[in-house]
Amino acid sequence: MRTTVQVISYVEKVVCDGCLSKDGTQTEATETLNLGDRSWDLCLEHSVRFSRYLVDALGTGLPDEENEAEAAAQDAHASTAAEVEEPTPDVDLADYVFRITDSRKAFKGKPLKAGTQAARAQWSGHRERLAALPDKERADYEKWCAAEGKDPRLTASHVEFRGFMWANFPHMARAYADAMRGRPQPHQINSPEGQAA
Ligand SMILES: [Zn+2]
Repeated sequence: MRTTVQVISYVEKVVCDGCLSKDGTQTEATETLNLGDRSWDLCLEHSVRFSRYLVDALGTGLPDEENEAEAAAQDAHASTAAEVEEPTPDVDLADYVFRITDSRKAFKGKPLKAGTQAARAQWSGHRERLAALPDKERADYEKWCAAEGKDPRLTASHVEFRGFMWANFPHMARAYADAMRGRPQPHQINSPEGQAA
């Protein structure tokens, strides 16, 4: 028998089964996870946690064409939130170079060298992207950072967030990328796209 795993986004006004069974908290669910015949409605934190189990059990299945997914995944464990003042650009860049690897094809996965033009250019693009996040992605990103213990103000945290989403919820990552390009989001409830079989 073949079992399909699918996560459907943005279910409205449903309570998270994870929070409910843990301590009876009625948290609004944003995801529905279907695993074979069973189904759970989950908040972002619980879907992150649940997907961790699945990733541990099944591997990440990273899509090859997503540079940042690989670059970020390799450094996913490297950082925790620093209890710092508002990070300056210098601090942000230093943290970025420490946590994120080179995304250029020829240098894929190699460490970025602090002080190089290439490192600064890659960081700068991602920093601008973080500054321009649409509200929906920012809300998800901040919840994810809280669950993962990362500082949402640091550019590297957002690169890791996108990498995590590409690896685990590619349909949502695609919707984030499309939203930033100003296109309407094509992924509605029950969209057949982006689901693992
Ligand atoms: Zn929950």
